[in-house]
Amino acid sequence: MDSISAVALGLKVGIVGGSIAGCAAAIELARLGCDVTLFERSGEELKDRGAGIGVPPSVIETFRKRGLIDPQIPVFEAGAFVRRWRTIAEPRHGYLAWRQTTVMALLNWGALYRSLRERVPAGVYHTEQRVVAITQHGERAVLSLANGSQREFDLVVCADGYASLGRQTLFPQVRLPYAGYVLWRGFLLETKLSESGPLENGIHAVGFPGGHGIFYFVPGLKGETEPGKRIVNWAVYTPVAPAEITMFLTDNMGRAREGSLPPGAMPIATEQALKAAARSRLPEYYAEIVDSSDQTSAYGIYDCEVPAYRQGRVCLVGDAAAFARPHSGAGAFKGMNDAANLSDALSTNTSIETALSLWNTERTTAGNQIVRFGNQLGRALVKEIPDWSTMNAAKMESWFTSLVTEKTEMFGVKEK
Ligand SMILES: Cc1cc2nc3c(=O)[nH]c(=O)nc-3n(C[C@H](O)[C@H](O)[C@H](O)COP(=O)(O)OP(=O)(O)OC[C@H]3O[C@@H](n4cnc5c(N)ncnc54)[C@H](O)[C@@H]3O)c2cc1C
Repeated sequence: MDSISAVALGLKVGIVGGSIAGCAAAIELARLGCDVTLFERSGEELKDRGAGIGVPPSVIETFRKRGLIDPQIPVFEAGAFVRRWRTIAEPRHGYLAWRQTTVMALLNWGALYRSLRERVPAGVYHTEQRVVAITQHGERAVLSLANGSQREFDLVVCADGYASLGRQTLFPQVRLPYAGYVLWRGFLLETKLSESGPLENGIHAVGFPGGHGIFYFVPGLKGETEPGKRIVNWAVYTPVAPAEITMFLTDNMGRAREGSLPPGAMPIATEQALKAAARSRLPEYYAEIVDSSDQTSAYGIYDCEVPAYRQGRVCLVGDAAAFARPHSGAGAFKGMNDAANLSDALSTNTSIETALSLWNTERTTAGNQIVRFGNQLGRALVKEIPDWSTMNAAKMESWFTSLVTEKTEMFGVKEK
C-alpha cells in the first residue's frame, strides 16, 4: 500500500459488479487503505469470450506502470485501419479504399480481466451476491442483496455494467435507446484460416451497405503470439430493424433476452441467416472467416449519456455510467480510468465531498464525450456509410473527418 490516503483510510466501500471496472475499483481503493467488499452476481469467475480489445499502446503502458495489468500481458500492435469494400474486380479481398493510419495495441479481454482479477486482494471479491436495491441515508449507502441481507457503506461504487441497477436507481429517467443495429461477434483459431497474410499489419474494417465488419489478430487463448497460434477476432455491425430486435434477441430456448445473445444462446437459424448475409456482402476471404466460426454471439447496440457520475455516496463507473457504442473501443479502459481517477481524487483531496465532487465533474464530461464520439462513429460507419468502392484515400479522409468531429480525452489518466 504505497499511497494510503487520510480521507480514504478505513473508508467502508461496497462495489457492485466484479468485471473490468469493478476489479479496477477494488484494487485502486484497497491500495488507498479503504475497507473494500465487492459483490458479483455470477456464480463463477467470469469467462473469457475470446474477443479482443484495441486501445492506444500508451494506455497499456500507463496501466502497467500503475500496477493494474501484467507487465508481460500479450499485446499486438497495429498501425492502420485497412478499409476495404467488395467489388466485382476484387471479390476475394475487396477494394482497398484507405489505409487509415493509427497506433493500436490489441489484446484479449480475458487476459485483461485475469490480470485485474488476480490483483484484487484476498477476501474482497464475493461471487453469487446479486445486489437488488441501493438506498442512501445521510452519509451512508445501503446495499440490499438477493439473499435478504443488507450491508451499509460510506461509499458505494456501481460497476454493474450497461443495464446498471445503480444508474437506474440514481437516474431513473435515463433510457438506453436502441440504435437500430447489432454487433455480431465471433473468433476463429488461426489454424483454421485459409491464409494469414492478408490479415497481417492492421485492423481490417470491411464496409458494405448498412454496416461493416472488423477483423484482427489477437494473442491465442493462452497468450500465444507466434504466427499459427493466434486468434482472429471479428465483429460485424449489421442492421436489425427496431420492430425486429425482440425476435432477433430470442434465444435457442425461445426466451427473449435482454440486450444480447451470448455464445451458445443464438438459434441456428439466426446464425445461418447472418452467415448468408455476410456471404453476400463481404469479400470472400472475410466471409470465409465468419462462416467457419461457431458459437457466435450478438449484442444490440445502445448508448446513453448520464447527468452525473455520482449522487450522494453512490458513484457509477464503467458501462454503468455513460455507456458508449463499442465503435469507440473505449469500454474496458474507460471503466479502468473511472476507477483510477476516483482513487486519485480521494488521495489528493482533504475531504470526501470535495474529492467526489471534482471526480464527478471530470468523469461526467469525459464519459459523455466518449458516448458522442461512439455515436458519430456509428453514424459514419453504419447508419450512413457511403460506398467506399467509389472513393480514394483523400476522399475517404475528408468524409471521415467531416463526420467524426468529437475530440475525446478518453484515455487520459495520470501516471503513478
Ligand atoms: C463475461 C464478459 C465478457 C466480456 N468480453 C468482452 C470482450 O471479449 N471484448 C470486449 O471488448 N468487451 C467484453 N466485455 C464487455 C467489457 O468488459 C465492458 O464493455 C467493459 O469492460 C466495461 O466493463 P464493466 O466492468 O463496466 O461492465 P461489465 O463488463 O458489463 O461487467 C458488469 C459486471 O457487473 C455484474 N453485475 C451486474 N448487475 C449486478 C448486480 N445487480 N449485482 C451484482 N453484480 C452485478 C455482472 O455480472 C458483471 O460481472 C465482456 C463483459 C463480460 C461480463
